[in-house]
Amino acid sequence: MRILLLGGTGEARALAARLHPEYDIVSSLAGRVPDPALPQGPVRIGGFGGVAGLRQWLDDNEIGAVVDATHPFAATMTAHAAQVCAELGLPHLVLARPAWDPAGAVRVASDVEAAQVVANQHYSRVFLTTGRSGVAPFTSSHAWFLIRVVTPPDATVMPCNHEVLLSRGPYGYADECALLRDKRIDVLVTKNSGGELTEAKLKAAADLGVAVVMIDRPPLPVGVNVVSTVDEAADWVQAQVG
Ligand code: NAP
Repeated sequence: MRILLLGGTGEARALAARLHPEYDIVSSLAGRVPDPALPQGPVRIGGFGGVAGLRQWLDDNEIGAVVDATHPFAATMTAHAAQVCAELGLPHLVLARPAWDPAGAVRVASDVEAAQVVANQHYSRVFLTTGRSGVAPFTSSHAWFLIRVVTPPDATVMPCNHEVLLSRGPYGYADECALLRDKRIDVLVTKNSGGELTEAKLKAAADLGVAVVMIDRPPLPVGVNVVSTVDEAADWVQAQVG
């Protein structure tokens, strides 16, 4: 049985490393970032072409089961995979790493709400880690922003006062503390991505008294089968293959 691993995360790479070469897997990446970290084993890169394209691709490639290990905010891909697998009767699993739960964080439902909190609380120095697509709601803010992204955001959606920091995790506690101090940050705005690779900023913010505005995850499609660890996902694949 060939398994499709929808990837783009550290967990997806760890799962591929666990399964390859014993199992017939193919990993899929969206192709958003140049020079992506590649999982072990066969990889395809690029969108499928919506629901219809995914259905066709699964059929053409004789996929017998799908593990969705995309980022918790990759809601469109997750919805497409859930829909198509249900239609085709394909076994389907979502690997969703546990969410963060920092004490004292202001929880919001969207990046637009996060921008409202920054404006209402009159924060002046913002560390924005919501990714290149999460910058636009802050365009009209007069605060200063440190925008940490893997690939540069569209120049037309930037707030007027900002610095772009191009980098890719993981990030350590000492470096995160130094960054918050050096840039005199008073609020961290982040998605609730979960995972250890980018978690140090939360402890650094807590220890330095920096406020946190946390964007909650989009809900998973109703009724999907979900696990939270690579071990559980590997067990599920083994059970499918028998
Ligand atoms: P998205 O909004 O859910 O997906 C948009 C479209 O990108 C999908 O409809 C699909 O195109 C394509 N796509 C997404 N993931 C794909 C995959 N693994 N393989 C093939 N096509 C994929 O997702 P996104 O926010 O653009 O995220 C894209 C990728 O970046 C994901 O793999 C995700 O794990 C990773 N990522 C996302 C975030 C985030 O905050 N959103 C952060 C870090 C990494 P078609 O409709 O043409 O099939």
